[in-house]
Amino acid sequence: MLCCACRGGSGSSTPPLVAGALRGDNVLLVTIDTLRADHVGAYGSARGATPTLDRFAAEGLRFEVAHAHVPMTLPSHTTIMTGLYPIANGVHDNGSFRYDGSKPTLAGELKRAGYRTAAFVGAFVLDARFGLNAGFDLYDDRVQGSSANLEIVQRPAEAVLAPAFAWIAANPEPKNPEPTNENPERRTPNAEPRPWFAWVHLYDPHEPYAPPEPYASRYAQDPYSGEIAYADASLGAFLDRLRAAHALDRTLVVIASDHGESLGEHGERTHGLFAYESTLRVPLILWAAGSIAPGAVAAPARLVDIMPTIVDLVGAPGVSSDGRSLRPVAGGERAEDPGSYFEALNANLTRNWAPLKGLLRGGLKLVDLPLPELYDLNADPTESHNLYAAQRDRARDLESRLDRLNAGASAAPSAAPLDSDAEARLRSLGYVVGAAPRPARSFTAADDPKRLVQLDAMLDAAATALANGDAATAESTLRSVIAQRPDLTIAYDRLAFVLRATGRIGEAVALLDGAARAGHADRALLRSLGAALRDAGEVGRALAVLEPLARENAADGQTLDALGQTYARAGRFREAEDAFRKVLVSSPNASTTWNNLGSLYLAANRTDEALNALAKAVVINPDLPGAHNGLGVAYARKGQFDRAAEEWKKALALRPDLADARANLAKISPR
Ligand SMILES: [Zn+2]
Repeated sequence: MLCCACRGGSGSSTPPLVAGALRGDNVLLVTIDTLRADHVGAYGSARGATPTLDRFAAEGLRFEVAHAHVPMTLPSHTTIMTGLYPIANGVHDNGSFRYDGSKPTLAGELKRAGYRTAAFVGAFVLDARFGLNAGFDLYDDRVQGSSANLEIVQRPAEAVLAPAFAWIAANPEPKNPEPTNENPERRTPNAEPRPWFAWVHLYDPHEPYAPPEPYASRYAQDPYSGEIAYADASLGAFLDRLRAAHALDRTLVVIASDHGESLGEHGERTHGLFAYESTLRVPLILWAAGSIAPGAVAAPARLVDIMPTIVDLVGAPGVSSDGRSLRPVAGGERAEDPGSYFEALNANLTRNWAPLKGLLRGGLKLVDLPLPELYDLNADPTESHNLYAAQRDRARDLESRLDRLNAGASAAPSAAPLDSDAEARLRSLGYVVGAAPRPARSFTAADDPKRLVQLDAMLDAAATALANGDAATAESTLRSVIAQRPDLTIAYDRLAFVLRATGRIGEAVALLDGAARAGHADRALLRSLGAALRDAGEVGRALAVLEPLARENAADGQTLDALGQTYARAGRFREAEDAFRKVLVSSPNASTTWNNLGSLYLAANRTDEALNALAKAVVINPDLPGAHNGLGVAYARKGQFDRAAEEWKKALALRPDLADARANLAKISPR
């Protein structure tokens, strides 16, 4: 199935690709987040955004058809790192799952084979706390910033690549200083130095689409492509520097994406809900100077194949995997299509919508939902013609294969369910928590995400309206969502946020309390209820909700922070401090918690400690008006009025209606 390569053929000076052909070579794995295959020039895009990827594709092996297994960052990278489907590695969603390290990883296997290993990631969703640091000597997850939406906390490509270059440059190149392609001795490793494995993860194409200049102007009408162009250019500069330093002379470079982006197709704006080709199809490129001949491979490739392929090429011991080495098909061997499993369970796990699972094989794609879908991707690449009803036999074959795969799965995945003690306490308050996961086949057409995607768009529209200052539209949109789908927990949470933002705290409490009593409560909703009760002055009820939540999951920083604020409100200083400190042990960059701790110290007249905590808050996140205001108060107490005024001005620049800061500034300003 080799298209145009000259692998092993006449006229090529490149030796045939045998197992262990790259023994002792370095490995550089590049994952570009949210990069749709069809936005890469080498995969047919005319946007001109990817000259670096196109060059490596032209010089290396390009897999024409490569698929991800989950259109979500953490689970998809877990399939890359373990060579296992989510069914086997246990990671199905961002944030609420952690890789438990029980299976071999690419980094771990290369480390065992003598490699130095390092990772440089660009997004909080890949923070070490989620487990992908397994096997890495160094796991650089320094991601600045803070936001309520953890998925948008990121660092730009250049800030990921600079430390990666420094680490690689500090690792001397294995073997001879002037390697030549023809030298038969070249693969004989010297005793030292050790080869390296580096993984760099560039998050830029993920939303929000805000490329820096000149890409913002160049792609003003298509900022998603602008982000791709920025990531590609940054990667190009990084690879050029590595080449100039001879760090790529004996390095296998693997470039892939974790998933694509829907860009409005099938009614989906970004990714994660569906598993159409816009989000499932990814680029996959293998490159090694002088060792891998240029070519394009038509045989299907999968992200679970990356680990077995690398391990095979560098001659490390093989491990059991859901993938297979792509070396034989890259060399032109014919092989049966093993099929590619996929799933998109975020909406099932967070909203109790029907679970989406499916299988790709031989150009056919089955999406197993209450309203099942079957597509012939060769004839219908946009997945517009559902053949399920017309071609039951072909569908049945894929269904039985999918059932066999699922048979190996444990029970329905569930993200951190409440423990029985917490549940009992909350039930005693009249709240019905987290409906038990339903068996997959009990879902009906009404639970199919195709029927519900419109609600997703309405949630988006409400968020946009609120961001634009139109709370009335946000409110009516959310009320309409709840009317259509009363069990959509997140809609109550969002509506309560709107009500609180417009000063209607009593209404927010009533809404959340009613939803929780009606059984529409999850951890996030109960946390919101606790915070709303606190702000409404019902501190006792707030603690009754928040304490069991915090007790049963000591790692839930958001609940601990809300609990700390509630203790502070109740005047229970020591317990408040304890709760905030617990958050900061596991999340030392939680700027809002530093702010809350600083405010607590201020209230307790512990000014030096307040100054220290608030200064930390604004260093991590300079956009916190309350922290600047508090810092001003602390400076004023210490008699440093110039610095105090500076902080209050910063607070007012961020939030002109911050009355405290205005009043503070007026007190020290000459009339
Ligand atoms: Zn991603």
